[in-house]
Amino acid sequence: MSYLPIKQLLQSTETGHEVTVKGWVRTKRESKNAIFIALNDGSTIHNIQAVAEPGQFSEDLIKLVTTGACIAITGQLVESLGSGQSVEVKATNIHLYGPADPEKYPLQPKRHSLEFLREIAHLRPRTNTFSAILRIRHALAFAVNKYFNDNGFFYLHTPIITASDAEGAGEMFRVTTLDLDNLPHTEEGKIDFSEDFFGREANLTVSGQLEGELGALALGKIYTFGPTFRAENSNTTRHLAEFWMIEPEMAFYELEDNMNLAEDFVKYVIRYALDNCTDDLAFLENRLKEEEKTRKKEEQSDMSLLEKLRFVVDNDFQRLTYTEAIDILMNSKPAKKGQFQFEVKWGIDLQSEHERYLVEKHFKKPVILTNYPREIKAFYMKQDADGKTVRAMDVLFPGIGEIIGGSQREDDLDKLMTRIHEVGIEPEGLWWYLETRKFGSAPHAGFGLGFERLVLFVTGMGNIRDVIPFPRTPKSADF
Ligand code: ATP
Ligand code: MN
Repeated sequence: MSYLPIKQLLQSTETGHEVTVKGWVRTKRESKNAIFIALNDGSTIHNIQAVAEPGQFSEDLIKLVTTGACIAITGQLVESLGSGQSVEVKATNIHLYGPADPEKYPLQPKRHSLEFLREIAHLRPRTNTFSAILRIRHALAFAVNKYFNDNGFFYLHTPIITASDAEGAGEMFRVTTLDLDNLPHTEEGKIDFSEDFFGREANLTVSGQLEGELGALALGKIYTFGPTFRAENSNTTRHLAEFWMIEPEMAFYELEDNMNLAEDFVKYVIRYALDNCTDDLAFLENRLKEEEKTRKKEEQSDMSLLEKLRFVVDNDFQRLTYTEAIDILMNSKPAKKGQFQFEVKWGIDLQSEHERYLVEKHFKKPVILTNYPREIKAFYMKQDADGKTVRAMDVLFPGIGEIIGGSQREDDLDKLMTRIHEVGIEPEGLWWYLETRKFGSAPHAGFGLGFERLVLFVTGMGNIRDVIPFPRTPKSADF
């Protein structure tokens, strides 16, 4: 009969009919009376077992059925006698699509380090760990679109190439078609970008927010979900040079509405993964348990992966102001004992060590911090009446730190202009953004969620390079 994904076959309640399975060999085990082949096609974490009688197939063919080889097996679907699976295939025909020389194929059935697998990112999706991550990543992306669609948001495609550098969210990658060996110069000796493709300087976007605001002030509620680029030279486990960002932007939302949305949204997508990625999450949970065993007792987490996800879904996030957080931090043990690397005082940009103390030690749950000092936040955030803080909100997660950054936006043209001049941005380049405050301005708010940080949390992985198929980081853009 026709070809069915292994995921579907494993759920079969009927047996006895002929099936064909296609996929990549995970393992082959030979005993005197039978050859057992575990086949995986990526549709599920589980393999289907095919059983072949040795005499039935040529030795030359069976020799080529090795880990990594791609084959099709036809045979009768039967109830499995072995434990671990309900059905298996009694092979009557084996077709070899592509062999994988065991001397050369790098993925052998043993545990490989994540570092090694990063070097073979073209093959790592064929491992259990990475196929599970990629399926969960897909489910989360689907849940993101579903959540917004079901809640009346419109998916707005904001540009990837941008000529505005005012967002200030990070260092940018330049986009140019100029001949780097023969650059045109102006009379003052500067590079003449009027000869460049767009007739001006252009970069890859660091955020779709400014254009997102234009959308919200016309369509009401929008979101963007697209590639975002930051040329920051930070080699951390939480930063990529190319990542995917989700940015909802809502007219008539104030800070409180923005927080409610962020919390509801994050809980929804995590719950979606819990409900729809059961097998893959169970696999990753076990993987993590094994990995934890190799760690010192005090570094082991007291919750399993699934417990951690359920905890986030079932509990309210802790909400407090930046000022309250600074008080807690100043009175904390590590501050008094001088254990923080960076001194805590009102006005500082919180460091990862401070965020982690609040989330992991003090509150032991996700935290939403609001009303940050205006000096450390972007020009577009709505100013509070006290003249010192702005209506910003950061959502902090255990093990991750900042997962969401957002704010209510300044909708008052005069206040926005004052701020733009204070921070030294050229308002000319932002004329189109400023017109939204000139014509029909409205209160509005939004936030940005780094998609990979979400996938990192849900999969329990430790390095952001392992939750995107092909990571781009400083000095690394292979594949
Ligand atoms: P961080 O302080 O962690 O560098 P940020 O304050 O620069 O982040 P924002 O400009 O607020 O980040 O961007 C919104 C969200 O995008 C962040 O909360 C985070 O989830 C994600 N993000 C930011 N930079 C990166 C990056 N280099 N790689 C992956 N995700 C990122
Ligand atoms: Mn931020």
